[in-house]
Amino acid sequence: MERVILVRYTEIHLKGLNRPFFEAKLIENIKGALRGIHCKVHREQGRIYVTEISEDRFDEAMERLKKVFGIHSISPALGVDKDWNCVVETAFSLMEKQVAAKPDLSFKVFARRSDKNYFMNSDEINRELGHLVLEKFPTVHVDIHKPEVALSVEIREKAYIYAEEIPCANGMPVGSAGRAMLLVSGGIDSPVAGYMMAKRGLNLSAVHFYSYPYTSERARDKVVELTRLLSAYAGPIRLHLVPFTDIQMTIYDNCPDKETTVIMRRLMMEIAEKIAVNDGARALITGEALGQVASQTLESLCVTDDAVSMPVFRPLIGFDKDEIMDYSRRIGTYDTSILPYEDCCTVFVPKHPVTRPEVADIRASEEAVDFTELVEKAMEETETLIVKASDPKLI
Ligand code: ATP
Ligand code: MG
Repeated sequence: MERVILVRYTEIHLKGLNRPFFEAKLIENIKGALRGIHCKVHREQGRIYVTEISEDRFDEAMERLKKVFGIHSISPALGVDKDWNCVVETAFSLMEKQVAAKPDLSFKVFARRSDKNYFMNSDEINRELGHLVLEKFPTVHVDIHKPEVALSVEIREKAYIYAEEIPCANGMPVGSAGRAMLLVSGGIDSPVAGYMMAKRGLNLSAVHFYSYPYTSERARDKVVELTRLLSAYAGPIRLHLVPFTDIQMTIYDNCPDKETTVIMRRLMMEIAEKIAVNDGARALITGEALGQVASQTLESLCVTDDAVSMPVFRPLIGFDKDEIMDYSRRIGTYDTSILPYEDCCTVFVPKHPVTRPEVADIRASEEAVDFTELVEKAMEETETLIVKASDPKLI
């Protein structure tokens, strides 16, 4: 008997002629996620099978697969000899666990047969096995429409039997949609924004602006850790750490106080776009939500967008803070995000920031200062890390 994992995908099935491309990406990402755990991955009839898994790391493999975008659900299955008695015994052993948890459960046998030479067809397997299960477990009953347990039997080169279907992350395989640059702060929102766009198939690069010594070493570690948590879903992430103190100080010394935040955000976007071009990224991603703070009013967002020519993706634009917090708890970044280290945006906050800035005014204030050399210097001093889920936890 062998424990295997059966992997289902749904949206990829709608892809017509491009389907092999998406399937190949998904398989590549599954192999990437399972790196370090001995196993084999292959596709067969619109499903993916993970076989020959190191027995002691089976549960870990299941956990990792739950984070791979493009997977709809997984089932831990038992692969056994096609001999009928063996099939029945295995089905009983799976039902036994389910019945122990809920004696009066409803079930249905769901057979599929790709080996057409097998001595029973699917209907016969359904009826015969259903009958035997009812005999063996008198407390259960059949519900063919909404069974609590779908006892599934697949007759292939082996028989695969399973009774559980575990929902996974869905979405599209990371890398199938190209690459974008996430502006990652230490807050709650930006990691969720990155998660959402990776879920739609984007590879992520990330950029973080820090203002040492106004922001601490710990604040930097927090961002690296958030990026590491995100990489469990998005795969390895190239993280660029940009020193921003000189630019920030120059803004505060030379621009009108109430415009400093918007101008700072424009410079962040400008630098992020330059690094994105070098990384082969075609869009920027931020964690902004409409109206959340002064720099996220419609007018402010227009002024921010005016600084760049790449599209800016803001997947959280229509979300309430509560909803974003729920999301961040679910994906596992919340506890790190709420650690209390300062972000460079919170260090110098004007008392009365503009909430309805005009592009022309902001451009004029910005043009009064020459940022060219400062931007070049910040880019030269940028440090780049490759962050992976398997890296040690930082904080
Ligand atoms: P978050 O929870 O992501 O920090 P926020 O609500 O605090 O978001 P802001 O601080 O105004 O919002 O930042 C808005 C967006 O700008 C962030 O979601 C992020 O994409 C980007 N951003 C802010 N600060 C930084 C930074 N230091 N480095 C890189 N990107 C940043
Ligand atoms: Mg922030």
